[in-house]
Formats: sequence, C-alpha cells, structure tokens
Amino acid sequence: MKQGKLIVLSAPSGSGKTTLVKYLLHKEELNLDFSISAASREPRSGEIHGKDYYFLSLREFKDKIKADEFLEWEEVYRDNFYGTLKTEVQRIWDKGKHVIFDIDVVGGLDIKRIYPDRTLAIFVKPPSIEELKIRLKKRKTESEDKINMRVAKASTELATAPQFDAVVTNDDLEKAKAEVLQLVKKFIVN
Ligand code: ADP
Ligand code: 5GP
Repeated sequence: MKQGKLIVLSAPSGSGKTTLVKYLLHKEELNLDFSISAASREPRSGEIHGKDYYFLSLREFKDKIKADEFLEWEEVYRDNFYGTLKTEVQRIWDKGKHVIFDIDVVGGLDIKRIYPDRTLAIFVKPPSIEELKIRLKKRKTESEDKINMRVAKASTELATAPQFDAVVTNDDLEKAKAEVLQLVKKFIVN
C-alpha cells in the first residue's frame, strides 16, 4: 500500500487556514492534494460537492461512523459533523501525492497520533480573538449566531497550539504564507 506524507493545518475558524491551504496547493513542486472532508452542514454558496466537501445528510454521516469509514471525525459544532474518510487519504496516496488537510484542532491532532512520523501538524494562530471575529464578519458566510459559536470555541482551540509541530501566526498574510511554505518544503524533502 502506497503511503505519502500528511500536512495538517488546524486553527480556530477564521484564522486563515483555508487561505493558506489554497496557497500551498498552488505550489506544484510540493505535490500536494487536498483531503476532501465529509461534512453534515449545508453547502455555502459557491461550494461544490466533491470539491470543497462531500456534503452528507446527518443520517448518512452517522451511518458512515457506524461502518467505521472514517480515519477521524468530530462534531465540530452542534449537528455539524466533519470527518476524513479512510478512502480519501488512500485516493491521494495512490496518485503519488502528499495529503493536505484543513481540519479542526482535534481532528488535526488525531491525524498526528495515527501517523506520527508522516505528519506535519501546523497550528495557524490568529493575531487575536477580536481579529478572528472581524475576519468572520467580513467573510459573510455565517450568521451572527454562528460567528459567536465559532468565536466562543476559539480560546479552547488556542490552548492546543503547543501540541502541534509548529505554530504560524497569521497576522501579515504574506509572512504567514512564506513561513508555511518553508515548513512544508523542509518536511517533504526529508
Ligand atoms: P479559516 O479557513 O481558518 O476559517 P479563512 O482562510 O477562510 O479562515 O480566512 C478567514 C477570512 O479572513 C477570509 O475572508 C480571509 O480572506 C481573511 N484572511 C485570511 N488571512 C488574513 C490576514 N492575514 N489578514 C486579514 N484577513 C485575512
Ligand atoms: P467550515 O464549516 O468553516 O468549513 O469548517 C468548520 C471547521 O471544521 C473548521 O475548523 C474545519 O477545519 C473543520 N473541518 C473540516 N473538515 C474536517 C474534518 O475532516 N475533520 C475535522 N475534525 N474537522 C474538519
């Protein structure tokens, strides 16, 4: 069975991990492919099934948990389940590529625990919780309630930062991009 490496970017919602993952995916020399997670939330406008997420109903998601189809899964917010299907990682390794994940801190640390030597787990830190809220408001993808729910979870998530292999503060985006690029390049070459 072919096995490549795993790059995890985890952070509180709004920290900028999706932005950084997209940046890394454009660097062809890194040979990365995005792990498409399964999710039980509604698609946002513009999100595509099979590209951004595999959007499942709550029932479908729970059936897959029972069938042991997930490498890891989490109820990240109430009734919003997210998880990595075992088949997804193998699909990418079979193509000879490394896997990059945009997942929550618990899932990210689970991946690191399952594949300790093959995984680089990066924590993306926001400059502050206030800035996180500003970014989520500006992104305009969640209601006020949902933004508050995400921000409320941020302090517990921030406390997990020391368990990651590296912490990158995303204040100046260009600086954060350069830092993650350097970390991933070094890990993939070794
Ligand atoms: P996450 O995936 O962690 O929820 P996103 O990548 O969607 O975060 O970023 C949240 C919002 O903040 C987006 O609208 C994004 O364009 C913006 N953003 C990302 N990085 C920065 C930064 N360094 N400074 C200001 N805004 C940023
Ligand atoms: P969003 O709804 O903003 O797309 O994602 C909400 C949170 O769920 C983010 O922190 C995102 O990284 C996380 N997430 C996405 N996919 C997965 C996954 O497969 N597993 C886990 N544990 N979290 C995920």
